[in-house]
Amino acid sequence: MAETSVNIIDQCVAQGVPFAREYGGLLDNRSFGGVQVSRTFYARGQTGQQLLLGAYSALSRQLKTEKVRFFPRHDMLDVVLLDGKAKGVVTRNLLNGEIKAHQADAVILATGGYGNVYYLSTNAMASNVTANWRAHRKGALFANPSFTQIHPTCIPVKNNFQSKLTLMSESLRNDGRVWVPKQKNDKRKPNEIPEQERDYYLERIYPAFGNLVPRDVASRRAKEVCDNGQGVGPTGFAVYLDFKHVIQNKGEGYVREKYGNLFDMYQNIADENPYKTPMKIYPAVHYTMGGLWVDYNLMTTIPGLFSIGESNFSDHGANRLGASALMQGLADGYFIVPHTITDYLSKEKPGNQDTANSEAFKNAVNKTEKDINKIMNIKGDMVVDEIHRELGKVVWDKVGMSRNSRGLKEALDIIPKIKEKFWNNVFIPGSKNDYNQELEKALRLKDFIELAELMAFDALDRNESCGAHFREEFQTKENEAKRNDIEFMYVAAWKYNADGKPNLFKEDLKYKHVKLKTRSYK
Ligand SMILES: Cc1cc2nc3c(=O)[nH]c(=O)nc-3n(C[C@H](O)[C@H](O)[C@H](O)COP(=O)(O)OP(=O)(O)OC[C@H]3O[C@@H](n4cnc5c(N)ncnc54)[C@H](O)[C@@H]3O)c2cc1C
Repeated sequence: MAETSVNIIDQCVAQGVPFAREYGGLLDNRSFGGVQVSRTFYARGQTGQQLLLGAYSALSRQLKTEKVRFFPRHDMLDVVLLDGKAKGVVTRNLLNGEIKAHQADAVILATGGYGNVYYLSTNAMASNVTANWRAHRKGALFANPSFTQIHPTCIPVKNNFQSKLTLMSESLRNDGRVWVPKQKNDKRKPNEIPEQERDYYLERIYPAFGNLVPRDVASRRAKEVCDNGQGVGPTGFAVYLDFKHVIQNKGEGYVREKYGNLFDMYQNIADENPYKTPMKIYPAVHYTMGGLWVDYNLMTTIPGLFSIGESNFSDHGANRLGASALMQGLADGYFIVPHTITDYLSKEKPGNQDTANSEAFKNAVNKTEKDINKIMNIKGDMVVDEIHRELGKVVWDKVGMSRNSRGLKEALDIIPKIKEKFWNNVFIPGSKNDYNQELEKALRLKDFIELAELMAFDALDRNESCGAHFREEFQTKENEAKRNDIEFMYVAAWKYNADGKPNLFKEDLKYKHVKLKTRSYK
C-alpha cells in the first residue's frame, strides 16, 4: 500500500477530483489528527465525496463501453462456493424482491465497514456487514472484529429517536479548540464562561499535539470529562469546539473559506451559528479497522474471494489515523487487486454456464429464500429498529470507547437474548416481493447481532489496551492505553462455528524495520 499510494493523487486528479492547490498551482496539504506535519491531500471538507464522484465518473465511462455491468439496488445476501472456491453471489433485487444467483470466476467484496452494528454511527444508513458475515459463515476468517474507531468530532446524540449521526470533519481540529467548563454542571452559555474558567483539556494534557491528538485519544478524553460532569448541552454528553480565537486572529472569511460547507451543515442540523457560538461535539462510531482477514494479495481464506477497502482488516491495526481509509481503499482497488486477481485467474480454468445449475448455486438461492420466508413469517410485535437500537446500546455501552471484562461478559449474556427476541418478535410489514425496507433492515440486523457477539469475544480475549481497543483494567496511571506486546502482538482471526463458539487463529506481527514504542502525544 505504501508503495502504490503515491500514485493515488495523480490517478484521482486525472479522474477530475479537484484536490486543493496552493496559489502557484501545486497540490496543497494540511495536517490531521495524530501527526504534527501537514501531509494530507484534501478537497476542502469534501475529500471523500469528491473521490466518490471521480470514481463514479470513471465507472460510468466503463458502463458506457459495456466493460462493466451494474446492478443498482441489489443487496448481496450470500457467496457461493464451488469446490471450496468463491464462484458467485446471491442477490436480492431491492425493488421487486427477486433472488438471483450470479456466476463468477472470482468475487471481490468492497462492501465497506460495519459501524452500524452500533445502530448510531456516522456511516451511511445502508452500510452493513451482511456480505462479510455471509463469507465468514462460509469459512472466511474475520480479523480483529472489536477494533472500532470512535471519532471525536461528531454532532452529539439528541434523543432516542435519532437514526443517524453526523461527522464534523477532523480538519476542524486544525483551527478549532476543544474545551469544557472547569466547573461541573455549569449551565452558563459558552460565551458567558470566561477564559480562566475553561478547561482546554487536550491542550492541557497533550501540549505537543494539543487538539490534534489521534481520534481514539480525543474521544476517550471527551468521554472522561463528560463522565466527570463537565459535559455541556442538554444531555451533558458534549464538549465545545470553539473557533473564537481563529476568527479573532484571522477573520471570519478565513474560516468560511476553509470550512464554510461544514459550518453550514452544522447550522442546518444543530440550528446554531458556529461562527458565533462554539460547536457542540461528541464521539461517535465512525470506522471499523476489523474485517475479513486477507493475505498480501487481498484474498480471504476462501480461494477466489477478495476483500478490499474497509471491508478487510488490513493495514490499520488497532487504530486508524485520519485520511488513511480512502488511501487504503483506493490503493486496494486501483493498484493492488487488479494485479493480484489476474494472478489468481491465470491459474484458474474459466467456469462454464452449467455451474449456474449446480447444487451449490441452487442451495445458496434456496437458503436465502428460506431465511427471508422465516423472517417474514415471524409476525411479532417489534419493529427492526427497536431491536437494533437495543443491540446498539449494548455494543456502545459495553464494547464501545472503553471496555472491561465485566461489561463484556454482560454483553455476551445479553446479545443472545436480543437474538432470540429478533427471531421471535420481529414484525415485517408488506411483502417480500416488493420494495420493503423493513425486510432489508431485518436481513442486515440478523447478521449484525451475530457480529456483535464476535466483537465482544474478541474484546474480552484481548487482555490489553491497544489503539482504539481500550480495556479499563489495562491502563497507565495517566489513563493511557497499556499494551502487552509480549502476549498480544498478533492479529486475532476468528473462524465461524455454528455452535456460537468461534475458534481463534493468531497471526503473529513481526516488525523488521520499525522499533515498537508506546505512543506519546505529550
Ligand atoms: C462521514 C465520513 C467521512 C469520512 N471521511 C474520510 C476522510 O476524509 N478521509 C478518509 O480517508 N476516510 C474517510 N472516511 C472513511 C472512508 O470514507 C471509508 O472508510 C471508505 O469510504 C470505505 O470505502 P469502501 O469502498 O471500502 O466502502 P464504502 O464506501 O462503505 O462502500 C461500500 C458499499 O457497498 C455497499 N454494500 C454493503 N453491503 C452490501 C451488500 N451486502 N450488497 C450490496 N452492496 C453492499 C454499501 O451500501 C456501500 O455503497 C469517512 C467516512 C465517513 C462515514
